[in-house]
Amino acid sequence: MNPQRDRILHELGLGPQWRLREQAAIDDVAEPIGAAEAASSSISAESSPAAASSTQAIRRVSSPASVSEFVPVTGSVNAAALDWEGLANAVAECRACSLCQTRKQAVLGIGDTQANWLFVGEGPGAEEDERGEPFVGQAGKLLDAMLAAIDLRRGENVYIANAVKCRPPNNRTPEPEETAACWPYLERQIELLQPKLIVALGRPAAQSLLQREVKIGAARGELFDYKGIPLIVTYHPAYLLRNLQDKAKAWEDLCFARKTMG
Ligand code: URA
Ligand code: SF4
Repeated sequence: MNPQRDRILHELGLGPQWRLREQAAIDDVAEPIGAAEAASSSISAESSPAAASSTQAIRRVSSPASVSEFVPVTGSVNAAALDWEGLANAVAECRACSLCQTRKQAVLGIGDTQANWLFVGEGPGAEEDERGEPFVGQAGKLLDAMLAAIDLRRGENVYIANAVKCRPPNNRTPEPEETAACWPYLERQIELLQPKLIVALGRPAAQSLLQREVKIGAARGELFDYKGIPLIVTYHPAYLLRNLQDKAKAWEDLCFARKTMG
């Protein structure tokens, strides 16, 4: 490890425990299909007479409905008039995309509703789905360290949200249909928050907010505008856990964010 990288890792609060955390994150990502999905799969396979006829049939019957097969129960989301409590209730009951089928609970967001800073991630993972709070797993520990590196703390002048409020099965990337279906909630959150700066963590968040294709490597360092609010993009913490070499760039992006806020 070179001295500059040591310093950056130190700044990000990732000194001696780094290896351990990274391994834990790899284990996290490599986890098999969740228990809920496995359970519902076996029930539908057993209860369907067609399922016994061939392996192919079992596979088809047992897989959760794909995005295109899913018929939204609530139609499109209208969140324009909701307050924070209304938003929390609406996402808890939302069935506007297929992610509602496999979530344990929807995760709206967390933090100071008067915050100047808004960080937007991708979607809840297993721990977030379990606990109902964004970024509480391994990626969340890194996000907390990133916040600390620029003198910020979860809940204090910071709000954290995600592009989709329900966990994509097996932690896959949300489909464009899913981020689009969920967008009115994030849009309303931003309207209520009126943050001074938005930091998009990773591609799905950036694309959802900017409504266009974004490559983080190319877009970082640029100052975007979201309805008059400055917006910057940087790598997602889960990506950084797998790509150590890009941490220095994330550090630069955080410094840029702090400077922009200043
Ligand atoms: N990754 C995200 O994008 N959001 C979370 O809440 C957790 C992990
Ligand atoms: Fe509704 Fe968003 Fe959950 Fe889809 S991800 S069900 S749109 S809250």
